[in-house]
Amino acid sequence: MSILIHDATVITVDDAFSIHDPGAIFIEGARIVAVGPNDEVMRDHPTADRVIDGTNKVIAPGFVSTHNHVGYTLFRGRAEDAGLACVTGMYLPMNTVATREERRLVGSLTYAELLKSGVTTTLEMEEEADVYAEFVETLGCRSAMGIMLHDADFDAMAKGEFRFDADVRERELKRAVEFAETWHGRADGRIQAMITPNLTISSSPELLRACRKEADRLSLRLSMHVGWGEEEFEIIERLHGVSPYAYARDHGLLADDTVMAHCYVTSDADTGLLAHSGACVAHCPLMNSVRGHIAPAMDYLERGIPVSLGIDNMFSDHFEVVRAAVTMARIKTQDAVALKAPDALRLATMGGARALGLEKEIGSLEAGKRADLMILDYEAFGLRPTLDPVQNLVYHGHAKDVETVLVDGVPVVDGGVLTRADAARLLRDAELAAQSAWDRFAAKYGGIIAR
Ligand SMILES: [Zn+2]
Repeated sequence: MSILIHDATVITVDDAFSIHDPGAIFIEGARIVAVGPNDEVMRDHPTADRVIDGTNKVIAPGFVSTHNHVGYTLFRGRAEDAGLACVTGMYLPMNTVATREERRLVGSLTYAELLKSGVTTTLEMEEEADVYAEFVETLGCRSAMGIMLHDADFDAMAKGEFRFDADVRERELKRAVEFAETWHGRADGRIQAMITPNLTISSSPELLRACRKEADRLSLRLSMHVGWGEEEFEIIERLHGVSPYAYARDHGLLADDTVMAHCYVTSDADTGLLAHSGACVAHCPLMNSVRGHIAPAMDYLERGIPVSLGIDNMFSDHFEVVRAAVTMARIKTQDAVALKAPDALRLATMGGARALGLEKEIGSLEAGKRADLMILDYEAFGLRPTLDPVQNLVYHGHAKDVETVLVDGVPVVDGGVLTRADAARLLRDAELAAQSAWDRFAAKYGGIIAR
């Protein structure tokens, strides 16, 4: 199928940050054949199977969110005011209560919300990420996916003791490898399996080295959390005598094929390790700010560290994340012109594509690339006057302004409606799943811990 979108404002996010106004895009199958000034594209491609009038519309590359836990929407309306206490007070105990089916229903809603917010690609890592693969295939989005691994004894950890279990390690790795062998490259290549140990404190050196070995054997990329708290530094120093970044590097997790999530606690030496490694930072400014933290993203960029943007969890309007990247950069640097709109949009698109090794495939609107894009309706409250389409997108856009989303040239959101899933059903099922999980949580733990 071919699609022509004409008379639109096209923000390409190519190297020159070209904007065509009026511009057009011609898509054949999964790929962009032509993008440029309206007259040029229309001359070579005057019609298509489907023609979309882009008047008053802005086309931008789909967002690439490089850090997600979609099933953690289970904590929406629960964990936002709980600080980091939610980790031991909600996240870990919920693992003993929620069923795979409940996670699947809640996480499926999140995937759909993300797609409606223009997020065409996510990096999803979760204890049971495998439960979402079929829905990703159905929904039509693109997702890197990894089962979040640990080999720590969580009961001991709750008492402040750190013990690692070889049986747990073997079982967890087996799950991750089986998932990768089953799903990597499936859904017409839209699913990319990853190897994703969870935390430095819940991973032994043996686990990290085994993760590196399996990733190399299967040609997969890796991701993990690092630099998320002073407590992490104290524990890793005590257990291994080095910083969490050095620990990750020593066992193969800090390299140019890894995505390190958060990185809001760092030292000059650790930032140097990051810069030297070629690893990408998945900067989660909205979630971090809710927890009272700001990562030194401008410092990372100045030192040549690749930065991408991630949602983390509970939130699903990616425009809020892009805005938070700007506001947090400005608060952190006390510089009111740090991270201008085009640079923020570049992090949210090409930055993510590079993090996943997909920079030749997605992240910008260029001939030959996959047609992963969003069409925004700018004839909307909050987006007029349109004196600068990029500043309006970054500072004033919302998920509600996304009208149509294409992934691999397929309209997966069309006129604001999901084409491959039933939104009403997703909402109802997620509501019932969350209610039943929290009812059992309250029954087991005597209420909501750490509220
Ligand atoms: Zn996370």
